[in-house]
Amino acid sequence: MSFNSLGLSQALLKAISKKGYTTPSPIQQKAIPPILEGKDVLASAQTGTGKTAGFTLPLLHFLSENPKEKYRPIRALILTPTRELAAQVYANVKEYSEFLNLRSAVIFGGVNQKPQAATIRQGIDILVATPGRLLDLENQGLLSLKRIEIFVLDEADRMLDMGFLRDIERVIKKMPERRQNLMFSATFSKDIKKLAHGILHHPVQVEATPENTTVDAISQKVYRVAKGLKTSLIIKLISDGNWKQVLVFTRTKHGANKLCKKMISANISAAAIHGNKSQGARTKALAGFKNGSIRVLVATDIAARGLDIPLLPHVINFELPNISEDYVHRIGRTGRAGAKGEALSLVSADETTYLRGIEKLIDMKLPVEIIEGFEPDPNASTVPEKKQQRGGGNRSRGHSGSGKSKSGGQKSNHSRRPKRSRDRRNNDRRN
Ligand code: AMP
Repeated sequence: MSFNSLGLSQALLKAISKKGYTTPSPIQQKAIPPILEGKDVLASAQTGTGKTAGFTLPLLHFLSENPKEKYRPIRALILTPTRELAAQVYANVKEYSEFLNLRSAVIFGGVNQKPQAATIRQGIDILVATPGRLLDLENQGLLSLKRIEIFVLDEADRMLDMGFLRDIERVIKKMPERRQNLMFSATFSKDIKKLAHGILHHPVQVEATPENTTVDAISQKVYRVAKGLKTSLIIKLISDGNWKQVLVFTRTKHGANKLCKKMISANISAAAIHGNKSQGARTKALAGFKNGSIRVLVATDIAARGLDIPLLPHVINFELPNISEDYVHRIGRTGRAGAKGEALSLVSADETTYLRGIEKLIDMKLPVEIIEGFEPDPNASTVPEKKQQRGGGNRSRGHSGSGKSKSGGQKSNHSRRPKRSRDRRNNDRRN
């Protein structure tokens, strides 16, 4: 199938060809036709599948083919959970609309609102926003959602994880009832289905990858290792492999900073990216990572959402996430748009429960390797760390699995799906 056969305008085809795309990705093939027909769409697609163009192209097509009055009310709203994703989606909107007479803007928190409000005042057709700043500006009367015709909820699962449900409901109340709704989510939990039911009208359901499975192009491996040896192992893997662009995930901001320092001491250029970093620092770190001056980007889950790093070859989980779905998001950073990628996880005994939870979610047993000199500690407890340090630690993301197992951890109980507690959402917000 070619982009020509999808019925997109010449101006859009020109922008697509300028981007170098030749064939629509599976999600684009499936989502673009019903969106062009004006239908509500519920799409299951991970980052890296081309989902952004999947909703942006038909949205731009509709707006440009059905122009409105000159003063330009905001006609399309794209809501994203994080600043990075908002910036990334906006960059795509700009590129795809290069040859169209449409104006767009992006708004998110953490930066001065004045330039954002000034751009909106001049009249825009498309607004990309994170929920907090959007409601903030709306409450101040600096923008109106009364003329929205198309509403896109991107990474809906992450929105819920971050505790944005209330904000989404508030945003919806401010839009007209008659509008087209598009909802994209990497995972399809019960909560997502419930949210979809409340927003979408007779949606067409499209899927790029089977529910909750990882992209085939990613080769996944687990290194069982003693907790205290993880830092030296990761440095060895990156140095021996001479890897030039590695995205590393840690569970906490503190952990990200600490690992980043260790990398730098080992002469590996690195930067950390998490919620305590200013927007400027995050942008700088990401730019350095993209242009090759930074080899290792150490990130927490939330900070990494929406990062668009083409053809990222290596993702390493320095620690496994305690939320199984986060694993799918993390490794979705590699193997993007058909390229081969490698996702490695360094797993210590206390993460055994998380590993089982992930394997259950993706319905696959991950191959395990042990490197000589970096063996796991046979005497280490398999109880998750948080439970070992009752009341200690700075994270309280709830986990309901019992996690007890015999030494070696191979026969541990399957973890139950982690509880989406308020604690967890609050932690995520801060990430
Ligand atoms: P996304 O899933 O929207 O984050 O897109 C992932 C990456 O795929 C981005 O770098 C896009 O520029 C790229 N991409 C999107 N659509 C296509 C396509 N049809 N052909 C090749 N690359 C694409």
